[in-house]
Amino acid sequence: MAMVNVTIDGVKVQVEAGTTVLEAAHQAHIHIPTLCHLKDVNKIGACRMCVVDVGARALAAACVMPVSDGMVVKTNTPAVRQARKSVLELILSNHERKCLSCVRSKTCELQALAKDLGVDESRFDGANIEYPLDNFGPSIVRDPNKCILCRRCVAACRNVQGIGAIAAVNRGFKTVIAPAFEKKLSETDCINCGQCVVACPVGALREKDDTDKVWEALYDPEKFVVVQPAPAVRVALGEEFGMPIGTRVTGKMSQALKRLGFDKVFDTDFGADLTIMEEATELVSRIKNGGVLPMFTSCSPGWIKYVEHNFPELIPNLSTCKSPMQMEGAIIKSYYAEKAGIDPKNIVVVAVMPCVAKKFEIERPEMETDGMRSVDISITTRELARMIKDARIDFTKLPDEECFDELVSESTGAAAIFGATGGVMEAALRTAADVLENRSVENVDYVATRGIEGIKEATFTLAGKELKVAIANSTGAAKKLIRRIQAGDASYAFIEVMACPGGCVNGGGQPMVNAETRMDIDPRVERAKGLYTEDEKKVIRKSHENPDIKKLYAEYLGEPNGHRAHELLHTHYVDRSKK
Ligand code: SF4
Ligand code: SF4
Ligand code: SF4
Repeated sequence: MAMVNVTIDGVKVQVEAGTTVLEAAHQAHIHIPTLCHLKDVNKIGACRMCVVDVGARALAAACVMPVSDGMVVKTNTPAVRQARKSVLELILSNHERKCLSCVRSKTCELQALAKDLGVDESRFDGANIEYPLDNFGPSIVRDPNKCILCRRCVAACRNVQGIGAIAAVNRGFKTVIAPAFEKKLSETDCINCGQCVVACPVGALREKDDTDKVWEALYDPEKFVVVQPAPAVRVALGEEFGMPIGTRVTGKMSQALKRLGFDKVFDTDFGADLTIMEEATELVSRIKNGGVLPMFTSCSPGWIKYVEHNFPELIPNLSTCKSPMQMEGAIIKSYYAEKAGIDPKNIVVVAVMPCVAKKFEIERPEMETDGMRSVDISITTRELARMIKDARIDFTKLPDEECFDELVSESTGAAAIFGATGGVMEAALRTAADVLENRSVENVDYVATRGIEGIKEATFTLAGKELKVAIANSTGAAKKLIRRIQAGDASYAFIEVMACPGGCVNGGGQPMVNAETRMDIDPRVERAKGLYTEDEKKVIRKSHENPDIKKLYAEYLGEPNGHRAHELLHTHYVDRSKK
């Protein structure tokens, strides 16, 4: 690769040809402010916050300007500083400035820039258009009054997820980011993945806040309120309290949930082990009995909705297994309720998820058992952090000792890795290998399933037979994979799809990571590392060896995929296409 020499603010730096001025400056530890730029997602040079002097007549946008050999860049001249201030003032002139009550206060990139650049009052106060909130769906709230038109959400939805539910509509002063034809987000093909939310630098997109519902349940003396956090939450929650990205806080998280007042703190990891029991059995049965293949995983509600809208012909290929969250909820309201002698109607199951699509999933009628929802409230990692802060719990000082309650919490390493892309596949392979080979296979590390490439493929030999598998993370990657399969260019027995890039660790409900941090750190990689460490530390690393799972089948469910398991743990899907 050809290298070029550049001087930035007097610092000489050698970078690969084709590098942008922004990236070159970053390598020289010079931080140029940005708003519309988001690494791997959006690079359009639209907001002009990153302007620099490259010796030309006009200032250049550093995020799209490639370096050239001998280039001299100045990032801090009076003209540059004035240009950036003017950009900020213009944005703020049409912005609903309510930082005190805004959910993004302290994580807002606009607020931080205004503080850094000393812009607090706008010179351009003028006519503002007041837009109604779009808060009609279960997962996401759109607030165009706070939108700065950076288009990071548009790129995340269209380019990464391959969906295109939102775009810039109208022109000039009336431009707004919205679904076409004045539809509400819930009336489009939006899959509630929340990738637009984590891409948004401000409070214009956010999850629907359900924390009040949780407080209400906790204060209700008639209710028995239990909680179950998902695998990916424990490697991200600490970030909300200043810990490095990917820090494992499983113990502190369980302690915080206890202090919030939940009657029982269970673990979705148990539900993940249960999912593997059902899903691996379903896969082995489809392979042995000539069932529909490839079989796709079904844990990710965004992915399920994507299939229902866009590829309904693939519905028979989806595993009928409910997600770990739903399985855990169904078992709490049946097996646990029976054991504890509690009327399931009085149990409120709260799930803490890295995902905003789970808020949609809990409302699906197909997830009900005997007319009762298995999970009553689903909150995100961010919402849990807000509750912990609201309760004035000093999270960092909590003991790092797990205090999950017994019966439906014990879990294995296989469950821990569910939160990373490839994790469900690897967990399923650990169990399928033992079942097919009728012995305890020593190897549990299927490393070909790991990593953050959009599509991963591997072939494993189990019981003398080749098993071809694929993993897609992001719906954009899944779309490419499906097209290849439908064109006859690829074939597999088993495919894992997670709607979010990197899997649940990078879900739409996870802590915000700003654009500048993303230049250096990939949260998908760091959080996944935390989960693989959690896996390695577990004594038991295969789902079918979990003693409480064995007990559940022996005492209550019978066989995996048996009659009772089907009633409680399996579901069906709906064709949402307009074909
Ligand atoms: S989006 Fe940012 S600047 Fe706007 S009100 Fe919220 S915190 Fe303040
Ligand atoms: S939630 Fe996902 S599908 Fe919906 S608008 Fe946002 S990125 Fe697009
Ligand atoms: S909603 Fe957020 S990400 Fe989308 S254009 Fe507006 S400010 Fe940017």
